[in-house]
Amino acid sequence: MTTTAHTAAPLSHLSVLISGASVAGPALALWLARHGARVTVLEKAPALREGGFAVDFRGRVHRTVLERMGIWEEVCRHRTHMGRQTLVDVDDREKVDLPAFLMSGDVEISRTDLSRIMYERTKDHVEYVFGDSVAELRQGSGGVDVAFERGAPRRFDLVVGADGLHSHTRRLVLGDASRHLRHLGYYVAGFAMPNVAGLRRSARMCSVPGRMIAVSNHDGSPERGGAFLVFRSGELAYDRHDLAERKAILAERFADVPWTYAPHVLEALDALEDADDLYFDAIAQVHVDRLSVGRVVLLGDAGYGATMGGMGTGTALVCAYVLAGELAVARGDHATAFAAYEAEVREYTRGCQKISGNAGPFLAPPTERRIRSRDRAYRMLSSRFLAGFFKRLTERAADGIALKEYPGYGAGAVSAVPSLNRQA
Ligand SMILES: Cc1cc2nc3c(=O)[nH]c(=O)nc-3n(C[C@H](O)[C@H](O)[C@H](O)COP(=O)(O)OP(=O)(O)OC[C@H]3O[C@@H](n4cnc5c(N)ncnc54)[C@H](O)[C@@H]3O)c2cc1C
Repeated sequence: MTTTAHTAAPLSHLSVLISGASVAGPALALWLARHGARVTVLEKAPALREGGFAVDFRGRVHRTVLERMGIWEEVCRHRTHMGRQTLVDVDDREKVDLPAFLMSGDVEISRTDLSRIMYERTKDHVEYVFGDSVAELRQGSGGVDVAFERGAPRRFDLVVGADGLHSHTRRLVLGDASRHLRHLGYYVAGFAMPNVAGLRRSARMCSVPGRMIAVSNHDGSPERGGAFLVFRSGELAYDRHDLAERKAILAERFADVPWTYAPHVLEALDALEDADDLYFDAIAQVHVDRLSVGRVVLLGDAGYGATMGGMGTGTALVCAYVLAGELAVARGDHATAFAAYEAEVREYTRGCQKISGNAGPFLAPPTERRIRSRDRAYRMLSSRFLAGFFKRLTERAADGIALKEYPGYGAGAVSAVPSLNRQA
């Protein structure tokens, strides 16, 4: 292992509230606890959230960060080993086999497993509070006074918004959500369904103009499968927390299935009725002028999210490493650390967001002609002749940061902060 370039800077004098316990939140908690900070992770859901599909890591930088976190081997143990992902036509005839790295990177893991790995690594050293949310933040010179929806008010030195694309923290410090969320003209949904297509670590994806439906199996089980739907649409007004409303939108958009691939599609739509794990969101990007305001800073999707195709998970882990590292180097001086964090990650996150703009049009091209040209292009790029070049192209954004060597990385356990767990 390489040597550290900076002097270790314990953060034992620092208390930090992180809002959001999915990927970015627990990743930062792992680092801050390792640097000795007292960390509280707040999650609105009543327990660690399950659901969604697989997320992936690609290239050298993602792997280096996972290794420095000490979770690379465990992530690999839980990898999906996803194989063939095939574009089929409406009669279920195969058109193009996409190489595994395109959709699944070097290592693919279910988001739930990744979140759980980081939670398990931190739960004895970090205070997790479930079922609550920040109601109000008031910043003063010596800290941030936080009022909660349910719990008693508390004061923290720093607050981190790792609460996703629709970040509540971002709204509290930067105002109106619509200014920061850029809709890219598509919606995406994923949910579990029986493995009716008899797939094994593979997927079949069928596009008609403006819509795509895929059925898949990620874990090799004969029973469990997943459905993944994408449709083209302007921004929709709906209640994001209303499961029935989200299901109704999907059912309506996919009601008139024009494909004879229908057995799988109809099964997927049947499964939708019973799904309680529905992931449904706009394909959108977050653009903010600044990532911090005083003692509050944004991390992960909250600051530079891209829903899909922009490697949001890898980016969140890389940026958590940078944020914690800069805080350690600055010995908790947040003004210095936040400015350095922003300078380090700004171009990187922009580069990753840029490629995410292609996800919707790739999965559900708007016209038959565009579907045909997509198929032609990917047939060519997936050929053995061009596959290496294609792989490097997909890794370029993920590798687009020169990682600094901060103190405290390695496979070691987090520092011996006493266990503080409680449920709200
Ligand atoms: C349930 C779920 C399923 C997903 N499925 C996929 C997928 O299949 N494929 C994919 O590419 N990406 C998926 N994502 C997104 C992916 O996790 C992120 O793009 C990426 O990992 C960056 O993570 P993040 O932690 O910044 O944001 P997110 O993963 O979005 O996590 C944000 C967390 O903050 C919590 N939160 C929200 N509001 C508040 C609040 N007011 N107070 C406290 N906590 C709050 C949320 O419940 C969530 O746990 C999913 C996210 C979630 C939450």
